[in-house]
Amino acid sequence: MSTNSDSDSNFSERERPKRGRRKRGGNATNYSKIVEDVSIAEFNGLEIFSWEDDDLSLRSAAAQSRLPFDRLAAEELVHFPDVTKSKASMNLYLLLRNKCLQLWHLGPQVQLTVGAFKDQLKSPLNSDPGLITRVHAFLERYCYINYGIFHCTVHKTLSTYRRIIVIGAGYAGLMAAQQLKFFGFDVLLLEGRPRTGGRVMSYTSHKSSTNTRRAGDLGAMIVMGCVGNPIMTIAQQSPIRFVQINGAQAALYNHEGIKTSADKDNHIQSAFNLLLDTCAYISKELKINSVNGKNLSLGRAIDLVLGQMELRVQKRRAKFWSGMHDMALRQQRLLEDCYVLGKEIKRLVEVIEEAMRNKEESFFDMDINSVANVEELGRLVELRVHKHDLKVALEKFNHRLTEIDTHRAVYKEMVHIQPPQVYVNQEDRTILNFHKANMEYANGCPLHKVSLEHWDADDEWEIEGSHMMVRGGYYKVTEALTEPVKPILRRNHIVTNVEVNEKGVIVSGECPDTTVFYEQADAVLCTVPLGVLKWSIIKSTESDGRIKFQPPLPSWKCNAIDRMGFGSLNKAVFFFEEIFWDKDDHVFLRSAETEEARGECFQWFAVPDEPVLIALISGVAAGFPDLPNYHELTLRRMMNFLRTVYPNCPADPTDFVITKWHRDKFTRGCYSYIGCDATDKDHDVLAEPITDKNGIPRLFFGGEHTITRWPSTVHGAMISGFREATRIANTFGEPLYAFVDPDDEAAAKTARDAAVKVDEKPNGINGASSSKADVDVAESMILD
Ligand SMILES: Cc1cc2nc3c(=O)[nH]c(=O)nc-3n(C[C@H](O)[C@H](O)[C@H](O)COP(=O)(O)OP(=O)(O)OC[C@H]3O[C@@H](n4cnc5c(N)ncnc54)[C@H](O)[C@@H]3O)c2cc1C
Repeated sequence: MSTNSDSDSNFSERERPKRGRRKRGGNATNYSKIVEDVSIAEFNGLEIFSWEDDDLSLRSAAAQSRLPFDRLAAEELVHFPDVTKSKASMNLYLLLRNKCLQLWHLGPQVQLTVGAFKDQLKSPLNSDPGLITRVHAFLERYCYINYGIFHCTVHKTLSTYRRIIVIGAGYAGLMAAQQLKFFGFDVLLLEGRPRTGGRVMSYTSHKSSTNTRRAGDLGAMIVMGCVGNPIMTIAQQSPIRFVQINGAQAALYNHEGIKTSADKDNHIQSAFNLLLDTCAYISKELKINSVNGKNLSLGRAIDLVLGQMELRVQKRRAKFWSGMHDMALRQQRLLEDCYVLGKEIKRLVEVIEEAMRNKEESFFDMDINSVANVEELGRLVELRVHKHDLKVALEKFNHRLTEIDTHRAVYKEMVHIQPPQVYVNQEDRTILNFHKANMEYANGCPLHKVSLEHWDADDEWEIEGSHMMVRGGYYKVTEALTEPVKPILRRNHIVTNVEVNEKGVIVSGECPDTTVFYEQADAVLCTVPLGVLKWSIIKSTESDGRIKFQPPLPSWKCNAIDRMGFGSLNKAVFFFEEIFWDKDDHVFLRSAETEEARGECFQWFAVPDEPVLIALISGVAAGFPDLPNYHELTLRRMMNFLRTVYPNCPADPTDFVITKWHRDKFTRGCYSYIGCDATDKDHDVLAEPITDKNGIPRLFFGGEHTITRWPSTVHGAMISGFREATRIANTFGEPLYAFVDPDDEAAAKTARDAAVKVDEKPNGINGASSSKADVDVAESMILD
């Protein structure tokens, strides 16, 4: 089913129910980033050419692999310097690479061997067997093919036995362990909990009148985009199905359950987006990112911009009322004029009336030549001047009256169009608070903690396509991923010590059977959450859940662990007997009464076709579950809310849970964010391995916090697992460049040097832009 269209039902258009509104101005194309990554010199002066064979399937295969289909990505340029020598060889390379990716994506259930790849190539593509082998080896080593849950037909063994310990069976650990096993390593996967999946966890409730088993995701729930998301491949390899989230028309209710009008809702959403754009302008264009030597947070910047807007409104009001004041003064002057003129008119009328009483009216019409004497002439002139003055005074008076009437009308009009008293009124503020809560969900922390400069650093890498939920619960993906690593997995093995020495590593800890365990290996990959790493480096006498590194982690690593933020997000999950909402609406929203509680159950997801609702608790409110009686109080308050919104809602759910991820000793939070003193580069520092005394990398790091492009996500965790498997294989496995033509020694040397160089780059995976067609192809494979 292809659903991502330009219609207004397009979920991505409103973006709201995604993890916050992260993007400004739509998806940036990633090509520009790729070009930035690779200096012009690395292109050897070659112009970037367009791919001539515009085959949709080849394009989609490249997009699904996060690679640009018509040029070499950074890591390919260093691994294949020889193919950049001519346009023809570059074209051949790209065709081979895209073809190999296409074959893999067409049938990822079975290993794509180099033999099977060669068999599919027709002349003249099969003209260079050496290049074909290298392309295949490269794509395999960098986990672009043969990853996930596939049937392995050719088992690899290393010429030298190597053992690797992977700590943590979350998605980073699961993917890395599986890949390393496939590469021929002896792998041991240690997991502290009795279950795998880490922050991907579903709670299953049986509490219903029919004892029906129902799942609600307590951790990750949304597959955030499909083009290039490795989860899409896993779904092809297993019976997992996705449901596209329909949230375009998500209604917003206030805390009393009263629906906000669509106009108001859209208006405030636009105002909020404008606020974010202004913050971006301040940060990126004006380069103001700190005040008094203190780095600004996004929350502080939003408050400052709001403050400025408020000031502007008050200035406009001041100007308006000063205009009104001037108008009132003028009115007053006119009235005073009228008063003076009135008195004058009265006096003149009296004079004229007096003359009339004295029978002197003849003077008004008398011919001046018929005046009898000087006295008469004087009286005539006098009376005529009075008459003229009266006429002038009356004219003036009437004119003033007209002016007063006009002023009055204008004044009345002006009062109606006076500027608002405040920039945001109370009602609008609660809606604005909803949007702030949504941003806090995106960042996994209160807005005043996240860096203004770097909070959106990963925006341009956002995976495109629909956001989806896993039918039946995300745990189904975990189950599928756990199956192939079962033989090497040890649950309930809590690692407490990691010692690095010249011979390798010693990992020890606690387990239920033998109470302590002790394992040796050539290297260890640590995928425990950043929260656990933070807990491990703080000075405290409490040892529970800490990992002691020996020698202690170097200061550059500790500083990055300290700088990078690890926030909090919780969920309230409600189980019912029956669905009482519209089945096609997957999302509805709630604005809280107060600023502090803005993140409390602010966004609700309906589990597809199940009577289960999941509400998010973000920002400062994510800490509320620690409050006494919070469980009971929230249940009552939220049930009242639900009953107002949905009159058919029962009095009580059949089951109700609230998470406390920040209290979980294997996580200690939700996901990473870029704190005010951190930068996006700190993800790379967190990924950097630690070497032994001889400079051999022994302690490797993976997990969502170690990836710059897709942090805080499941797909980011998976890709970090791939990256580390590649890095470990490049360090301890067979050399990738055994295939380089020995006659071309210079090329071989450059390639080997380049391989070392690329290992130093934590980001081995390149982004690529994708078209709507790519999205359609990716979605059509998986959606219900
Ligand atoms: C509430 C919530 C909602 C989320 N929503 C989404 C979402 O919708 N979409 C999305 O893409 N992402 C979401 N995420 C983020 C996503 O879940 C994570 O980014 C991802 O699962 C991290 O995987 P990981 O392998 O890096 O770490 P983890 O999954 O945390 O795995 C680390 C493993 O290490 C183990 N471990 C820890 N300490 C030890 C020890 N001492 N010894 C042995 N083992 C240990 C842990 O038990 C765990 O299994 C959400 C996260 C949370 C908390």
